[in-house]
Amino acid sequence: MADNFDIIISGGGFAGLTAAAGLSGLGLKIAVIEFQTLDKIKNDLSDKRTTALSYFSKKFFTKIGLWDGIEKNAGAINDIKIIDADYVNGDSKLNLNFSKSDVEAELGENTPMGFITENHHLKNCLLDFCLNQPDIKIIEKQSVTSIEQSPISVEVTLSDNSHLTAKLLIAAEGRNSSTKELLKIKTFDKDYNQTAITFNLNHEFSHHQTAIERFMPTGPFAVLPMKNPLQSSIVWTVERPTAQFYMQMPEGEFLAEVEKRLGDTLGKFELATPRSSYPLTLKYAQKYVEGRCALVADTAHGIHPIAGQGFNQGVKDIALLCELVGENLELGLDVGDAAMLTKYEKTSKSDNMQMILATDIFNSLFSNDNKIISAARRIGIKGVDKISPIKRFFIKRAMGA
Ligand SMILES: Cc1cc2nc3c(=O)[nH]c(=O)nc-3n(C[C@H](O)[C@H](O)[C@H](O)COP(=O)(O)OP(=O)(O)OC[C@H]3O[C@@H](n4cnc5c(N)ncnc54)[C@H](O)[C@@H]3O)c2cc1C
Repeated sequence: MADNFDIIISGGGFAGLTAAAGLSGLGLKIAVIEFQTLDKIKNDLSDKRTTALSYFSKKFFTKIGLWDGIEKNAGAINDIKIIDADYVNGDSKLNLNFSKSDVEAELGENTPMGFITENHHLKNCLLDFCLNQPDIKIIEKQSVTSIEQSPISVEVTLSDNSHLTAKLLIAAEGRNSSTKELLKIKTFDKDYNQTAITFNLNHEFSHHQTAIERFMPTGPFAVLPMKNPLQSSIVWTVERPTAQFYMQMPEGEFLAEVEKRLGDTLGKFELATPRSSYPLTLKYAQKYVEGRCALVADTAHGIHPIAGQGFNQGVKDIALLCELVGENLELGLDVGDAAMLTKYEKTSKSDNMQMILATDIFNSLFSNDNKIISAARRIGIKGVDKISPIKRFFIKRAMGA
């Protein structure tokens, strides 16, 4: 006998839990399937990364009643400085600055450009919320092993051989989703041959809520202001072959390398967390929908973290899907209806393709010391800083507005 739900979400990470929270309260029965134990998710402090949340994500989390909890542990980003640099010749004078006043001019709202939250806080906030909703059932230590679709429902078999049915299956299993494979959805894959080294720093002087992205020939070095004004989180992109070398370097030598890229604006500093590394790839699905199944977030589009937009794009998918499901419910229509899912795919895919292209081009332009590309990059930076419509376009994209 199958257990009946309205919506099954496979994957209880950032995206799966956000989708469950967004769909909660609509009178639906929702199941979230996660292959880790809830205990592991709650107590796992191994992911020391932070996530930059955009203005759009803040608005969505506010709408679904989660922002107050997230904000307790989030720091505001008031300014962003983009610096074209190499440590031989120093920073170029052609920098690009985005500030809170640019945002106010653009949106007519006095709001930070974004927020930085620690990943384990964000995950726990989402999980606690979902665990407290009577319409959400989280099924731990399970994954989908097979999918059967009929014109009126989708049935999944889980690893313990139990069966669940629903009107809609949402796959939110991250980039390497097995449900995407079961659905035979092909992906486009590109290896950037780069690795992100991430760690947090304690420092002497306040970061003044300014995020700095210093573009070096080998890749960007991002300094993200955390809630504590004396703590920043670093995402340092390096060419893959050198990542191992930096990861294993004795701490003193590693900090000397960091200092070359960080400069002296934050004063004396020390490591607040160990180093972690993430190989960087692009992986996007050729389609987002198959029958009554929809892909969201990294399952549909895993992008380069250069602009800190990966999860924010996922929130946009989820916000759209929640809106469409809500509209169908109001009209008394099926929540896994083909027309609704076609609309979801068309709208979200085109928005995500723009971000995929932008991050891909940005990464090629800014991780390059070829003289012609450097010159083009500097002209580009000057252009964006001086031409207000282009600058406004960048502000809007970064904020997801
Ligand atoms: C270095 C770095 C920095 C980043 N910084 C930012 C940033 O500042 N801002 C931003 O917006 N984004 C950022 N991102 C991207 C962001 O981390 C991802 O977009 C986000 O984690 C995607 O969430 P997800 O839930 O789709 O996938 P995941 O986080 O991969 O979660 C997937 C979940 O599904 C579960 N799962 C997997 N397979 C199955 C299965 N078969 N059955 C059941 N459960 C399954 C997993 O256990 C996990 O809980 C960054 C990424 C990197 C690498």
